[in-house]
Amino acid sequence: MTRPFVNWARNVRSAPRAWAAPSNEADVAALVQETRARGGRLRVCGSRHSWSPIAASDDVQVELTGLSDVVSVDVDRQTVTVQGGCTLRTLNEALGRHGLAMPILGSITEQAIAGAVATGTHGSSLRHGNLASLIQGLRLVDGRGEVVEIGPDDPRLPGARVHLGALGVITQVTLGVDRAFGLIETRTRWPLDEAADALATLAATHEYVKVWWLPPCDDVLVTTYRRTNELVARSRVEAAWERVANATVFPALLGAGGVIPTLIPSIMRLVDRVHFLPGTRAGQSAEMFTLVMPPRHQETELAFDAAHAGEALRAMRDLVRASGVRLDFLSELRFVKGDESWMSPAYGRDTCQLGMYATHSPDIPRAFAAFRELGRAWDARPHWGKSFETTPEEIDALYPRAADFRALAADLDPDRVFRNPFVDSILGAP
Ligand SMILES: Cc1cc2nc3c(=O)[nH]c(=O)nc-3n(C[C@H](O)[C@H](O)[C@H](O)COP(=O)(O)OP(=O)(O)OC[C@H]3O[C@@H](n4cnc5c(N)ncnc54)[C@H](O)[C@@H]3O)c2cc1C
Repeated sequence: MTRPFVNWARNVRSAPRAWAAPSNEADVAALVQETRARGGRLRVCGSRHSWSPIAASDDVQVELTGLSDVVSVDVDRQTVTVQGGCTLRTLNEALGRHGLAMPILGSITEQAIAGAVATGTHGSSLRHGNLASLIQGLRLVDGRGEVVEIGPDDPRLPGARVHLGALGVITQVTLGVDRAFGLIETRTRWPLDEAADALATLAATHEYVKVWWLPPCDDVLVTTYRRTNELVARSRVEAAWERVANATVFPALLGAGGVIPTLIPSIMRLVDRVHFLPGTRAGQSAEMFTLVMPPRHQETELAFDAAHAGEALRAMRDLVRASGVRLDFLSELRFVKGDESWMSPAYGRDTCQLGMYATHSPDIPRAFAAFRELGRAWDARPHWGKSFETTPEEIDALYPRAADFRALAADLDPDRVFRNPFVDSILGAP
């Protein structure tokens, strides 16, 4: 029996017929040609860190661990070229060695670059777009098994950035990056309503800002970051404590809530009091943007128009309180600058991405469904890498360039080699 596909959060499983790990582009091309010739399907997985079943295959499951190197770093032009399977961690390390850094990152660096951009992975800033917005060019093996280069002036580039794994096997990506910089982080506690009122100003005046809320508490933790060119390093003791807390203390607390769900609100209030503390700290950008790996949990996330950030945060709080759902992890509000990528949740508008997270709560299905329903009233777009359900009609209404993306996918992959049921649910089945 072949190894099953299981994602990080363990909420997605599939039974691939076979696994493949090509070690160069020619092997990828041969694999695609062979799969196409027998009318099969293949899906590449990055680091399997999506909550949605976007990466899962029930035919051929491809891993790109053999195509995971840094190809070149151009310090003068501030660009880096990496293979599709290169992890963000490897990318950051290479940039650091050359005095460069990603201008924006999400919370972790486990993802492969092609996997991260596929779903619109983002950090939090109204001055920077998601990671896909940094792409200046890429190479892929299309559904005929041919290598396609998409350069900076290619009209297909805005379609290929947030690619959903539906256009081909991405073998190489070139990104624009920054000179290395440090960040000074400042954490402050706010009553949720006051933070909601101040969100527009906070997002406009800080290059990076994010908000954490532990339902059903009254306050939120607002974290802002300011650049510094001074050489700063994060305290090792603090980082070690975070690792221990995330590996032992939080899972134990959250586990107790899983066994006795009535304890969940009290556990959240306790964590709020002892962990959501004001303060400052500093370090190099990559270590400040990212967190120690959190305990295993489930996530759903919606991209609202940034103009509605405060109302959306309040609406989420009101939904949780009115429905009585118990959420046993933080909820998070982040910003993403609007962009031109056809399938980006930030397409054409600055967005506020609001994430609802939970670990063991029995209320997860009810809470996520209610949140999704709330998003419908606000034309909120789903995060492709997180749990959600949708229809092609809904996607057409939310993404003005969805038809162009479908046409690009049909052009690059006429025999639908790169489809799976999840992509069919977005783009439509034959
Ligand atoms: C703990 C945790 C923290 C997270 N933090 C954030 C965050 O801060 N911000 C955020 O926006 N998201 C976040 N995410 C979500 C995550 O960034 C996305 O789901 C991302 O897409 C996962 O990347 P991956 O490499 O694991 O790709 P996978 O989940 O394995 O795959 C994602 C998609 O990429 C495709 N793909 C991968 N490689 C290739 C390739 N070479 N060619 C073609 N298609 C390919 C797959 O087919 C699939 O469609 C987090 C996830 C976890 C588990």
